[in-house]
Amino acid sequence: MSYEQKLYEGKAKILYATEDLNVLLTFFKDDATAFNAQKRGTIVGKGEINCKMSSHLFQMLEAQGVPTHFVDCPSANEMRVRAVKIVPIEVVVRNLAAGSLCKQTGLAQGTELNPPLVEFYYKNDDLGDPLLTEDRLRVMQLATPDQVAELRSLALRINEVLSAFFQNCGITLVDFKLEFGVDGSDRLILADEISPDTCRLWNQEESDPDKRVMDKDRFRRDLGDVEAAYQRVLDRVLAQPI
Ligand code: UDP
Repeated sequence: MSYEQKLYEGKAKILYATEDLNVLLTFFKDDATAFNAQKRGTIVGKGEINCKMSSHLFQMLEAQGVPTHFVDCPSANEMRVRAVKIVPIEVVVRNLAAGSLCKQTGLAQGTELNPPLVEFYYKNDDLGDPLLTEDRLRVMQLATPDQVAELRSLALRINEVLSAFFQNCGITLVDFKLEFGVDGSDRLILADEISPDTCRLWNQEESDPDKRVMDKDRFRRDLGDVEAAYQRVLDRVLAQPI
């Protein structure tokens, strides 16, 4: 693949222009960061795994009526995507309490959240991606009230589809982060990636709270076998039809 102009390099991906103005090329890196990039490392093969897994999940979501930015995969760690304006809001959906929710609220890890919790964070590394309220979203003009309502309903719909999909893989979808973009017709579409970098995934075959972890928490918490865990998730995901 001959690269066109580099538009942006993030922590896990590089974005390039293509000869088609409506299409961008995403290169998935092996670089891993955590705690707002205070911890850095490499997960060998992660770029390919996350690209393949995201492609499969995006196509599966499209088939379920969820609009995504996915176009195709010209190689194992490259994805062509529709050019959209990214909304600077990280939408987190939680089915079980974990991570920052437990730290901030004292809820025990694994507490069931039914209905699922939907949270909005400001996508801004300098500010440490702070938690937003709906009033803050309005004051900061990050999204209109209609867009916020749509982000919430899209996120909940995606959670239903993804939770059922991962259930068929013998994996519990604990929580995950989504990013959305706005296309030329002002339509919200799912963007970024869906991978063990952005989801908490627990292996249902394991009860041990460390052994069951199949996601980036293995890297964050130095649990070891990070590559193997990512690969096992990919194998199970690819074994499920779209
Ligand atoms: N997440 C992410 N990017 C971020 C923050 C969170 O992909 O910048 C994902 C994270 O992997 C988890 C979910 O969103 O699946 C909820 O993360 P949480 O708020 O618990 O933060 P963390 O524990 O990662 O600090």
